[in-house]
Amino acid sequence: MKKRMINEMKLTFASDSKNESFARGCVTAFSAQLDPDMEELADIRTAVSEAVTNSIIHGYRGGEGRITVHARLFDDRSIRIRVIDRGCGIENIEQAMQPLFTTDRSGERGGMGFAIMQSFSDRLDVSSRPGKGTTVTMQKKLK
Ligand code: ATP
Ligand code: MG
Repeated sequence: MKKRMINEMKLTFASDSKNESFARGCVTAFSAQLDPDMEELADIRTAVSEAVTNSIIHGYRGGEGRITVHARLFDDRSIRIRVIDRGCGIENIEQAMQPLFTTDRSGERGGMGFAIMQSFSDRLDVSSRPGKGTTVTMQKKLK
């Protein structure tokens, strides 16, 4: 039997909030080959936005840095999206993932980013080390 080739892409960009729409556009375009419906496309866009925004505003605290997005298709109709930063990291991951938890003091953030990523994903993994950075992995099987 012929082994199915893994299709994947990797994207690295500066942690500028202008690149947030660029990143979600790229992942959306890449995932189009799975022929997702409108709802699935919107979900992918939102999930990527949340993770990339977190890297920009929390990971790098608005400062300079590099963010890598890695997307991989597998098992026929599944996609795995990984967002990696080398920013400040998360002290307490469990607490950070609680809905409504935020370290933001400006009142602009609702602490719902991880909850949104969770609702998109069949599997959500967050690994992080203070001072080293954060990797968020979302896995989703499309209809
Ligand atoms: P919202 O996403 O609703 O605007 P939020 O970003 O604070 O608010 P979450 O996305 O759920 O909420 O993140 C919760 C908390 O986890 C953040 O307030 C921040 O302290 C921490 N966090 C999330 N992602 C990162 C990251 N990449 N690097 C460092 N800290 C992070
Ligand atoms: Mg957030």
